[in-house]
Amino acid sequence: MEFHPATLIAKKRDGGEHSAEEISELIRGLLDGRVTDYQMSAWLMATYLNGLSDRETIALTESMLHSGKVKKTPRSGPPRIDKHSTGGVGDKISLPLVGIAAACGLSVPMIAGRGLGHTGGTLDKLEAIPGYDTRLSSRRFEEVLARVGASIIGQTGDIAPADKRIYSLRDVTATVACRPLIVASILSKKLAAGLHGLVLDVKVGRGAFMKDEKSARALAKDLVAVAKHLGTPTVARLSRMDEPLGRTIGNALEVREAIEILRGDGPPDTTEITLTLADEMLVVAGLASHVRKARPFTRRALESGEALVRFRKMVELQGGDPRVIDDPSRLPQTKKTLLVEANRSGYVKSIDALALADLALQLGAGRRHAEDEVDPAVGIELHTRAGERVEKGQPIAVLHVRRERAHYRQNARSAICITSRRSPPQEPFVGRAIR
Ligand code: URA
Repeated sequence: MEFHPATLIAKKRDGGEHSAEEISELIRGLLDGRVTDYQMSAWLMATYLNGLSDRETIALTESMLHSGKVKKTPRSGPPRIDKHSTGGVGDKISLPLVGIAAACGLSVPMIAGRGLGHTGGTLDKLEAIPGYDTRLSSRRFEEVLARVGASIIGQTGDIAPADKRIYSLRDVTATVACRPLIVASILSKKLAAGLHGLVLDVKVGRGAFMKDEKSARALAKDLVAVAKHLGTPTVARLSRMDEPLGRTIGNALEVREAIEILRGDGPPDTTEITLTLADEMLVVAGLASHVRKARPFTRRALESGEALVRFRKMVELQGGDPRVIDDPSRLPQTKKTLLVEANRSGYVKSIDALALADLALQLGAGRRHAEDEVDPAVGIELHTRAGERVEKGQPIAVLHVRRERAHYRQNARSAICITSRRSPPQEPFVGRAIR
C-alpha cells in the first residue's frame, strides 16, 4: 500500500486515532526520507493540539525505541536498573546515586543528557571532571558497567535516532510541552539500555518542566503505565523543584557537592532524596520488598564509603582524573567570586529556582541553544536554605564568575526572599510513589 504522510497529518489534525502500523510507518518514513521535516513538524503540531490516545502513545514509544539498537535485558547477573529525572535546577542526584546503587549490587547503565535552557544536564556536570569521557563505545560502556556497577554516558547515534530527529523539530516548533511526546521521548531512550527496572523522579514546581502537581502526576502516571506495558517495571516519585536542589548550581560546583554527599557531608535534604531514589531502585529490582527495608542497605553503602569508591572507579575507567574525588579543588574554578549579602534580617521564605537558573545561564553554566558551550567553573553556591534565619550583611550566596556585572548580585539577592515570619520548609517529595 502506498504511504501518504499528508493523510496521517490530516487524520491527526481532525482528531482521529492512528493504528500502531500507521505510527510505525510514520517513524520509519522520517528516518528513510519518505517523511520530510516539514511534514513531521505538521504532525507534531496536530498531536500537540489533539493529543494521542494511550494506544498511540505506546505505539509511538515502541516505534521510536526500535528506531535504534535495543539491548537485550540480560537473563543473569545483577539487575540493570536506571533512574531518570525530568530535569531541574541543581539536580546532581545521579552522581552520588549511581555510586550507592552500584555498591548495593545493582548495575546502572545510565544514558544521560545535556542541559538546555534552565535545566542542567548530568553530562555537563561529569565533563567538568578533567578527562571524563561521556562518549564510550557500547563495548566499553558494558565493560565499565561490569567492573563498577555503573556507567554514565550520552545518547549515541544508535540509541533511539528517531527521538533525536523529533526532539530537534519539537524544539523549534513549540511542541516540546506535550505529554505523550515527552513520554515517548524519555522512554525510547531509557528502555534502549535493556533494563530490568526504572525509577523516575518527576520534578514539579517553578524550576521544573511541569509547574503544577496535576500535570506532573499525569506525566508520571503515563510514564509508568507505558514503561510497564512495554515490560519494564517502573516507579515514579514526584519531587519539588520550586527551590534549587542542594547548595550549588553550576557544573564543577555540583560535582563537588555530589562528592560531599558521597562522603556523608552533603546537605541533609539532598542526601535524603538520593537515598530515597536509591531505595526505590532496590525495590524495583526486587532486592527489597519496601523502601523502608532498602534503607539499611543504601545507608550502609554511603556510610561505609563503598559508594564513593564505586563513583571514583567509574570516573577513572571513563578517563576522568580520579584525584578530583580526593581533592575537589582540582576541579575547574573561576579566579573571581562575588559575595552576596542579605540586605535585611529575617527568615528565608523561598529561593527561586527559575531565577537562579537564569542567573547561572547568564554566568555561562548552561546553554540557551543546543550548540552552545558551557563553562564548567562558573555557578552559584548558596549559603542559606528556605526556613533559615539570616542577619543583615550575612553572606547568603557566592557567585563564581568570569567577570563582574552589577546586576549579578542584584539578581541573586532578589531570588532569595527574606521575610519577618518563619515558614516551615517543605517536604522534598510530593505524595506517594506511583507504581
Ligand atoms: N526529556 C526528554 O528526553 N524528552 C522530552 O521530551 C522532555 C524531556
